[in-house]
Amino acid sequence: MTGTAPAPTTAPAAPTAEPRTLAEAADLTRSPEFAGNTGGGFGGFGGADLPPPLVGPMAEVAAAYQEARHDPEFYAEYTRLLRDVVGRPSPITAADRLSDGLGGARIHLKREDLNHTGAHKINHTIGEALLAKRMGKRTLIAETGAGQHGVALATAAALVGLECEIHMGAVDVAKQHPNVVRMRLLGAKVVSVEAGQRTLKEAVDSAFDVYAADPERYLFAIGSVVGPAPFPDLVRDFQSVVGREARSQFLTTHGRLPDAVIASVGGGSNAMGAFTGFLEDREVRLIGVEPGGQGDEAGQHAATMSFGSPGMLHGMNTLVLQDAQGEPAEVHSIASGLDYPGVGPQHAHLAEVGRVEYVKEGDDAVLAAFVELSRSEGIIPALESAHALAHAIRIAPTLPAEQNLLVNLSGRGDKDIDYVAERIGMTGEADEIVR
Ligand SMILES: *Cc1c(COP(=O)(O)O)cnc(C)c1O
Repeated sequence: MTGTAPAPTTAPAAPTAEPRTLAEAADLTRSPEFAGNTGGGFGGFGGADLPPPLVGPMAEVAAAYQEARHDPEFYAEYTRLLRDVVGRPSPITAADRLSDGLGGARIHLKREDLNHTGAHKINHTIGEALLAKRMGKRTLIAETGAGQHGVALATAAALVGLECEIHMGAVDVAKQHPNVVRMRLLGAKVVSVEAGQRTLKEAVDSAFDVYAADPERYLFAIGSVVGPAPFPDLVRDFQSVVGREARSQFLTTHGRLPDAVIASVGGGSNAMGAFTGFLEDREVRLIGVEPGGQGDEAGQHAATMSFGSPGMLHGMNTLVLQDAQGEPAEVHSIASGLDYPGVGPQHAHLAEVGRVEYVKEGDDAVLAAFVELSRSEGIIPALESAHALAHAIRIAPTLPAEQNLLVNLSGRGDKDIDYVAERIGMTGEADEIVR
């Protein structure tokens, strides 16, 4: 099993005292070169490129958020809900059977799949709901693709007593029937968008139009560390609980930090959540894993950090997968939560300054990792999370046995089982029949 760890040369800093505010919890002053500045900039990335009617409303959100960050009562309510509703802290599981089979470095899992609603997204949707309530808004509005953000937001809206309106392309409404029912059961209004290609892009435009027409009523609740300032900061701060918990759990259990923290990157919220607590620990490798899809040709992947170029998307300056005309490119991923042609601006910055390594894993390696974790640990991971896992499985055998890899298992895979069964040719029939 786990070898005796050599004593670390310098003892890692003990976890800081319990924070009293979100500003203390997601302490940016410790690593300003990585975290960006309060104006929403991350090096040359980020910012807020908005149509004139939304400049005022977004400034209002930014100001309200700054106040909330420093308010101990806001933080107390947020952490109470994370504990009593989400079930935090989520544990870290040592994937011993998986690691024994692979050899090399040991793999550990931060279990965001055990959260209420089954993924990390609830960490920030609850924060957004509390902010909306504090601002006196009546309705949370957002778009959703596969429905995961919509379900997490509808859950948070029900929890704090707000209305919720989710825009979804008509094609996705048909494909994601269970999530449409979930959202409606949770009391959300689901709007099917029949325009254009009838998918995510049109849903974004539709939700945005409704928001722009009445910003007094709505908070536009963005689903990842993307969009105009302050959302990349705001979503990261709410997700930072993941890395903060993981760091202190790892120190308590192992007396040292993990050698690497590995997370999947779609928009980048679960990765920023896992990485933020470790940014200052320069000896800890941080690795973001993007969907390599079926190959390196345009349209076969959604690996923005590998193949993107600077551009504007959804109100932010970031890396974008774009065609020759500067239009967002077609993207593909086996995991619907990762097929986004952009990436959070802080990731673009962290790559530029060399603090985070970005790699990609393709569909086949991801499917293999999905099956391997299910069989060796009894945990069915989300296909999104299986990207991070696939990379850990790839590098573990090349690393010494004293090393520890911490994988952010961002969600559970129940939603993916039908798709995976079809891909690997597994039927729903019994293995044996007894007469
Ligand atoms: C939505 C989702 C992701 C991708 O979003 P990020 O903002 O990149 O974290 C990853 N894992 C799961 C389980 C998701 O639901």
